[in-house]
Amino acid sequence: MLYVLIIVIVVVAIIFLIRGLKPANQSLERKAITKTENPVILLIIDSLMDEPLKQAIKKGRAPALKYLIEQGRYYPNMISSYPTMSVTIDSSLLTGTYSDKHRVPGLVWYDEKEKRLVNYGSAKEEVFKLGIKQVVKDNLYHLNHSHLSRDVKTIHEKLAEKGLESASINALVYRGNEKKTLNLSKVLSKLDIMPESFQIETPLLFSYGALAQFSPTNNQNTQLWERYGFNDKFTAQELKYLIQNGKLPAFTIAYFPDLDKNVHEKGPINHIDSIEKTDKQIQEVLNAYESWDEAVQSAIWIVMGDSGQAKVGKDKTKSLIQLNEILDSHYKIHKITEPVKDDDQIVIGYNERMAFIYNLDPNITLEEIAGHLQQDERMNLIAWKSGADVHAAANGHKEKLTFRPNGDYKDPYGQSWWLHGDYSVLDLSVNNRQIEYGTYPDALARLHSSLHSHSGNYIIVDAKPGFEFAGEGTPVHPGGAAHGSIHEQDSLIPMIVTGTETKPEHMRVVDLYPWIMNLPSLAD
Ligand SMILES: [Zn+2]
Repeated sequence: MLYVLIIVIVVVAIIFLIRGLKPANQSLERKAITKTENPVILLIIDSLMDEPLKQAIKKGRAPALKYLIEQGRYYPNMISSYPTMSVTIDSSLLTGTYSDKHRVPGLVWYDEKEKRLVNYGSAKEEVFKLGIKQVVKDNLYHLNHSHLSRDVKTIHEKLAEKGLESASINALVYRGNEKKTLNLSKVLSKLDIMPESFQIETPLLFSYGALAQFSPTNNQNTQLWERYGFNDKFTAQELKYLIQNGKLPAFTIAYFPDLDKNVHEKGPINHIDSIEKTDKQIQEVLNAYESWDEAVQSAIWIVMGDSGQAKVGKDKTKSLIQLNEILDSHYKIHKITEPVKDDDQIVIGYNERMAFIYNLDPNITLEEIAGHLQQDERMNLIAWKSGADVHAAANGHKEKLTFRPNGDYKDPYGQSWWLHGDYSVLDLSVNNRQIEYGTYPDALARLHSSLHSHSGNYIIVDAKPGFEFAGEGTPVHPGGAAHGSIHEQDSLIPMIVTGTETKPEHMRVVDLYPWIMNLPSLAD
């Protein structure tokens, strides 16, 4: 999330320099919001994890989250999507599908048809190397309007079809049924730095940092040090405004981005201070009601993280896996500052602790590339497909595991599989053809979906906890933490639910959609 926001922040900064500090207000006066009994409010706290949350509560540092847990139910281990990167997870949450259906493969991936790396905004170094205009287009337009598949409907689109209204505050994935113009800058478009405007499709109520907001008095988005509105305070103020003005629609999704940055810096355990800060903003939201009791009585609250994070070792020479250096002696690797050339053999899409490695040369096999990678002790899983089969290999395992959907083996999520080889590669235990997952939750479906999320001849690699992948200008977090992989440390997230006794069929992000759509105020 952090890096995706940086690009939006850079764009807004440049626009503000030119047009002055006038945030784009959308008038709510013209919008008649139908008041819904028991509206659903979904708060996403980026990188919220079970263990640190429990500690913060124990130390009395998270009273709002503690209150919500006491008034409802707490699910400590919900399974995220894969790769565990915000854009892919949000797409799963909003569409109820994995990336083989929603088609947002990760933060960075290679578009085979356009022969270019798509990047929704990783570290600014990488963004500048790829070219800011392209990243702005990918982030502000393509993500929601051309990459997120039109074959799936978001919660916002589905609710609009039912005649129900919804709101999105600071969420990166938001597609809805309302046509809007997102105005950027005439001057910058003349200089060919970015397009002048985008036609976008949003929910009825759409708040997006300094580019769109509800509250005329919310000024948490005019300063660079406040990241132009992509902060917890802005999100809380916008939500508060909807509540206090009786504008809360049937469904609201509100994104709290600050914690992610702090977990990246401080690591997966020592960030209780940051949970306390985010909790203060949730308190602000609850205080918009006459009492907290009234808050939980008048709405259904869902509070959740989106991914976990795993530690990255301090010593850069060990903790950063330089994929281009490993592969450099065997193949010609694409340079990020240049277009993909005819003689380039390998393109790499870095997603922190996960990476896509694309093979452009028909004379090389994926198995051969996987063989080179498997030698490195810091490498965890390596997976690729051939025909309907998915192969998974791992460092320290001689044999590989091969699987495909539809077979005699069943997993806890009602999915059936054909399996062959070393089950321990994916830490599966198999008894009477019943599969149980270990360190890699829902590994078969999640790996399979990622290998079918976009076209191309590619390998997926995951780093072991303690390590992350690094390329030219990619974001790195030595001494801190990162996510992206399928490992449980990156994949398990907590969820708090108040105001309903029902729960999703399975504790996976991908199972939230049908459950949310069936909550009393949103059901048919
Ligand atoms: Zn992050």
